[in-house]
Amino acid sequence: MFEPRDQIRAMSGYHSPQVDVPIRLNTNESPFAPPEEWLRQLEGIVSTIDWNRYPDRSATELRRTIAQRHGVRPEQVFVANGSNEVIQTILLAYGGAGRKVATFEPTYQMYAQIARVTGAQVVEGERQPDLTLDVAEIERVVKEHQPSVTFLCNPNNPTGLVEPEHNLRALLKIATGIVVVDEAYAEFSDWSAMELVSDDVPLAVTRTFSKTLSMAALRVGYVVAPEWIIKNLEIAALPYHLDAFKQAATIAALSFTDEMETRVATIKSERSRIQNSLRELNLEVWESGSNFILFRASGKPATEVWQSLLDQGVLVRDCSSWPRLAGCLRVTVGTSDENSAFLQAIRAAVS
Ligand code: PMP
Repeated sequence: MFEPRDQIRAMSGYHSPQVDVPIRLNTNESPFAPPEEWLRQLEGIVSTIDWNRYPDRSATELRRTIAQRHGVRPEQVFVANGSNEVIQTILLAYGGAGRKVATFEPTYQMYAQIARVTGAQVVEGERQPDLTLDVAEIERVVKEHQPSVTFLCNPNNPTGLVEPEHNLRALLKIATGIVVVDEAYAEFSDWSAMELVSDDVPLAVTRTFSKTLSMAALRVGYVVAPEWIIKNLEIAALPYHLDAFKQAATIAALSFTDEMETRVATIKSERSRIQNSLRELNLEVWESGSNFILFRASGKPATEVWQSLLDQGVLVRDCSSWPRLAGCLRVTVGTSDENSAFLQAIRAAVS
């Protein structure tokens, strides 16, 4: 009786080692601090909160502000503490024991992890050796398993590849349950599934404040979906799961989105610089539509390269022990100086 459930015992959890080094390029955050003006506004917000009262349970104002941003109705928006919690809420409502959840591997590991925690069975579709996804494989997985939830990640983490729109359209045509498109990195990509959201399509599109919007510490994410899906997420969520300060701070942040999005252009040009430099070193590099780059450290074992980078003060993500990613490392695009330091370190590491 002191043992946890089987699903928990079988899992080791999802951890990105946090090492105290000068240059951290391992968790795909924004390298830029949020706008100073927003930080000043936060001080004022603290004194406007009725701290002895529970917050607005439906986060009415926040949902209205997010809905406006995307041209949808507030009833089509659900907000949570990071998009991980959004994903968890979706899986509490639509996953669970006796149901199947489909992923196309390699992809963001939390889909499978959270699905299993809810007791659902995970069915894994396979990508091609070049890590792109075929429509035929989407059709095979859906027809064979009839999943209640199917995940696509656009752009995909950890590959950085943009998922072609025709893959999503093909999936929506045959979907047997809800389709979740995780758009944590959408701002760095050239297309978004957001405009396909409509009350008669079983599509849910998730977004986060942790990347482009420079607020990973605040923990805010949301989903835009048909009203009938949102209603079920509200049932699955805990009462008052979004604290009052966060609601107000996020509403304030939304008036700075243009300013934060101008930084996307800088990240994209730095991304090209890193990709080109890695290719000059004859490393295999995947084309990224995101703020990170997957590459294969051929020649030397990836873990040796990772350690050498770390010894030089640069932390990247070692994906080489993950299934299907032998030899691979993933680097987040940082500030120009951080990227230059990374490039100098990788030259030394692979030479
Ligand atoms: N989805 C993807 C694809 C991610 O890479 C991440 C962050 N690593 C998340 C969701 C979770 O983001 P957050 O919970 O910070 O919103």
